[in-house]
Amino acid sequence: MKEKDIFCRIIAGEIPSTKVYEDDDVLAILDISQTTRGHTLVMPKQHYDNFLSCPKEIMHKVYDVAQRIGQAEMLVLGAKGVNILTNVGAEAGQSVPHFHVHVIPRYIVTDPGFQITMKAQDTSGMDLPRLAQSISDKMEK
Ligand code: AMP
Repeated sequence: MKEKDIFCRIIAGEIPSTKVYEDDDVLAILDISQTTRGHTLVMPKQHYDNFLSCPKEIMHKVYDVAQRIGQAEMLVLGAKGVNILTNVGAEAGQSVPHFHVHVIPRYIVTDPGFQITMKAQDTSGMDLPRLAQSISDKMEK
């Protein structure tokens, strides 16, 4: 049998967590790392490996909770912004293979625990219309 991931163990009550929100389908807990104050993880109670493999109905419920937590954090923590992000795959930084959404309140651009850098790349060798079309063609109808 496949070993339970750490979030399945938290959901099963086998290891402790600091709960922010819970309903029949969704659990939200404080991230143990507290990248910024209030960093929260929102996850489905049922196991799905990641965002891309999660059924839409459940995915929508997870994002609904993430939105409400972000709104609450803006009100109560004095956050000036929020990063909402989910990592899919180790290459994208996913370390726990159970779909979860990070809700990361932001206080200043240079919050020491969390910074995202997106650098523009040279696109001169890319056929952008063809690239866009190839993605579009493969989208689920
Ligand atoms: P990711 O790297 O996107 O898969 O995010 C996994 C997150 O889970 C990291 O930010 C960890 O700090 C967090 N994490 C790992 N173990 C625990 C735990 N026991 N309780 C709360 N958060 C955890």
